[in-house]
Amino acid sequence: MKAKTILKKNKLLVLVALVYMGLFIVMPEKASLAIKNSVYYLIEMFEVLPVIFLLTVVIEAMIPKEWIIKHFGEKSGFLGNILSLILGSISAGPIYAAFPISKMLLTKGASVPNIVIILSSWAVIKIPMLANEVKFLGVSFMGVRWVLTVIAILVMAWLTGKLINRKELLVSITDKAKPKVGINLDYCIGCGICVKMLPEVYEMIDQKAFIRLEQVIPGNMVLIHKTVEKCPTQAISINVD
Ligand code: SF4
Repeated sequence: MKAKTILKKNKLLVLVALVYMGLFIVMPEKASLAIKNSVYYLIEMFEVLPVIFLLTVVIEAMIPKEWIIKHFGEKSGFLGNILSLILGSISAGPIYAAFPISKMLLTKGASVPNIVIILSSWAVIKIPMLANEVKFLGVSFMGVRWVLTVIAILVMAWLTGKLINRKELLVSITDKAKPKVGINLDYCIGCGICVKMLPEVYEMIDQKAFIRLEQVIPGNMVLIHKTVEKCPTQAISINVD
């Protein structure tokens, strides 16, 4: 692989390395302190993440998709929100450990708002954290903060659910869950609307529309949804595995 490609693929790493180099020139003591802290966090991550990945694989294998859809899915309602809050609150480990678990839950059917609730409660209202808070700041401080934080989490979850489309999110984070476009040829009347709107995805053969690319490319998603809306016979469908 060419050096240019490697640099392009690791832009963030290169940027951080440049910042460190600059820091070493301007403030060498601060730079060595920063390196020490980075090494500390890297070691912590290497200790925690393998366990989390193992746990994620076990949960993925043991808990059926239907159970996750029922309890954390889009139709799980307020009970799903409460379960997500409990799951995030009883969790252990640093917040970055929550991301692989959240991704697994999302791909198995959890809704976007419930993922926001799990992540947020994991980050700010974990039970060990609350116990420490009581020790240092007292019960009333912890109680008021908990109530206000839970309200804020629920509002954030609702807003994120409105702003982020679950299917599009799945497309962007996983290959497996890429939605597929299909055409019911019995319904297609060959009007050609879809082909005109998106010729890179649809083509016309013998007065019927066919799919050129079955798997949806993320950039085409919005336009494909528009073709679904415009098709006069509702022959086009989008399915996520
Ligand atoms: S818009 Fe619908 S009916 Fe028209 S060609 Fe496309 S699939 Fe067929």
